[in-house]
Amino acid sequence: ALSSLSSYPAEPKPENDGQIQQKLINLDHGDPTMYQSYWKQMGDRATVVISGWQSVSYFSDTKNLCWFLEPGFANAVTRLHNLVGNAETENRHIVVGTGSTQLFQAVLYALCPYDAPEPMSIVSAAPFYSSYPLITECLKSGLYKWRGDANDFDKDEPYIELVTSPNNPDGSIREAVFNGSGGILVHDLAYYWPQYTPISSRTDYDIMLFTLSKSTGHAGMRLGWALVKDEAIAKKMVKFIEISSIGVSKDSQVRAAKILDVISDTYGDAETSNESKPFFDYGYEEMEKRWGQLREAVNKGQSFSLPNLPVGKCNFSNRTFGTQPAFAWVKCEQAVDDCESFLKKHKILTRGGAHFGSSKKYVRVSLIGHDKDYNEFIRRLSLINSVQSP
Ligand code: PMP
Repeated sequence: ALSSLSSYPAEPKPENDGQIQQKLINLDHGDPTMYQSYWKQMGDRATVVISGWQSVSYFSDTKNLCWFLEPGFANAVTRLHNLVGNAETENRHIVVGTGSTQLFQAVLYALCPYDAPEPMSIVSAAPFYSSYPLITECLKSGLYKWRGDANDFDKDEPYIELVTSPNNPDGSIREAVFNGSGGILVHDLAYYWPQYTPISSRTDYDIMLFTLSKSTGHAGMRLGWALVKDEAIAKKMVKFIEISSIGVSKDSQVRAAKILDVISDTYGDAETSNESKPFFDYGYEEMEKRWGQLREAVNKGQSFSLPNLPVGKCNFSNRTFGTQPAFAWVKCEQAVDDCESFLKKHKILTRGGAHFGSSKKYVRVSLIGHDKDYNEFIRRLSLINSVQSP
């Protein structure tokens, strides 16, 4: 998300050819605004009142290894994981961060020895999340170095592999490439939630990253959490957050606790659920609808293609379904080398494959934006596809 924030598009200015310009549809960022309609439907159920006297201390829980972790937030995280069954929380340390973006940096700091002669190599299988190389290289650290595609890494030296599953950008379900002996794995599970993919097992990796942004849609709260097995690693992550931001917003944690608890409550008995639509049902149905529209538009012609995604049984919902990721990894099939520029001409902003260590024939398209924009995108894509095809 970082690469193009500086060029966040303004509305296009009308050109002097007398034509009325089409509005630019921005599907470049994975801004999860789709979820706003759910939270609007919920009215005041997730409203939190924070008084003037609250949050006057830096500290939340001095007995906890993560001293800036609000106990209510920790409880809500554990409760939701136990309900969904997507991650093991027992015997784990929860480390809260300003988005999982900060936690990723804390992990790098925690895992790379401070006095090593050479920086540690950081790899991820391409196509990988475009922010990993940007974050890793941003400060030209002596601790770590971005080495790109994990499949190409053959050095016999320690390294860290980032495993994102379901993957951003292509939605694939991933295992570590992990062919060397000195590899440390970090699992980014931002999308391992039942609106996107069947929950097939309770993951119990050593370091797992989650974020509010892609689970509940509250990207603006800037909260993520890590589930960490090893105490020494968790302590070093906490140290990093202490140095970089002296903790994490308590106000955000109090609000997030409420949001997560309200989600869990929607799965309670009739009294506690208050007859609200269960949160992940809403998310699942919305993603299913949007993927249906996209496949229909792509199938109208030969201009584009989509990856095949695995089907599985979800232990949480008992549904059997195919992964329906937050992003589509679209390939331009015809004589178009630069898919991003091609779609931009049609006033559709996407992120090109090169950002993800892949070919320009691909673009990543966000499926989690506002309904209105998404429908307009589908309309334009269908039109391009039917005009371009023989
Ligand atoms: N990891 C992945 C795989 C992501 O897609 C994102 C959000 N685009 C993040 C991490 C960062 O999330 P946050 O908003 O919590 O910083």
